[in-house]
Amino acid sequence: MTLGSTDIVFKNVGYEYSTAAGRVKALEDVNLRFPQATSTAVIGRSGSGKSTLVTLLAAMRKPTSGTIHYWGQAIDLLSDNELSALRSKSIGLVFQSFNLELNFTAVDNVLVPWYFRSDFRRKEAIAKAEYALELVGIPELRNRKVGQMSGGQRQRVAIARAILFNPRLLVADEPTGNLDEETGFEVTQILLGLPRDLGTTVVMVTHDPQLASLAERKIQISQGRLVGDDISP
Ligand code: ADP
Ligand code: MG
Repeated sequence: MTLGSTDIVFKNVGYEYSTAAGRVKALEDVNLRFPQATSTAVIGRSGSGKSTLVTLLAAMRKPTSGTIHYWGQAIDLLSDNELSALRSKSIGLVFQSFNLELNFTAVDNVLVPWYFRSDFRRKEAIAKAEYALELVGIPELRNRKVGQMSGGQRQRVAIARAILFNPRLLVADEPTGNLDEETGFEVTQILLGLPRDLGTTVVMVTHDPQLASLAERKIQISQGRLVGDDISP
């Protein structure tokens, strides 16, 4: 198998948590390839390993067995500095809990990742933040405090923050978990539009089979193993 430099590739990936009570096997022998600018939904029961899979994908931790290649680079060969550069430059994250500063405006929340990078001037960063807020459909809320927004609006701000620097990969773990059905659908549409809009690779965990079927591809995890991988008709 050749490693496509535009893909993310999981090779025999496993993950075990170490706990006081011993080791917990959360993921076993997962082989996957994520081509650039595609969308994938991850489904499976609670405790099946979905969050473990996507935190590995987001390079928040390294696999305890096997390896992950990001666009041709093996994660186990990266130094800590290279790993944090990979995370801050190439990977965006969205969670169920929006993790926003309620007293900050939308644009100031979207700018938060900019404080961890020095390669853009403030003016450029603000222009990018405004573009991101436009892309998620709430340019008019730029100066509103997030504490005065609905759940759907907050998740849009969180998505705008995640795409501020146009990451190659966006990982979302149950992004609609706190939203009503219709708002969840709208937020999912925004996420699944990113491959087309920005060339992002989108991987989204969801409990909702209807939302999952909106993605180009659906993968299913059961007891730490990959048990399904379907491309949408
Ligand atoms: P899901 O997101 O599908 O609900 P997780 O990836 O969170 O599943 O969990 C997979 C397995 O790993 C479960 O058995 C869970 O109890 C275990 N697990 C998750 N996080 C930890 C942790 N921090 N320490 C120990 N075990 C964990
Ligand atoms: Mg989970």
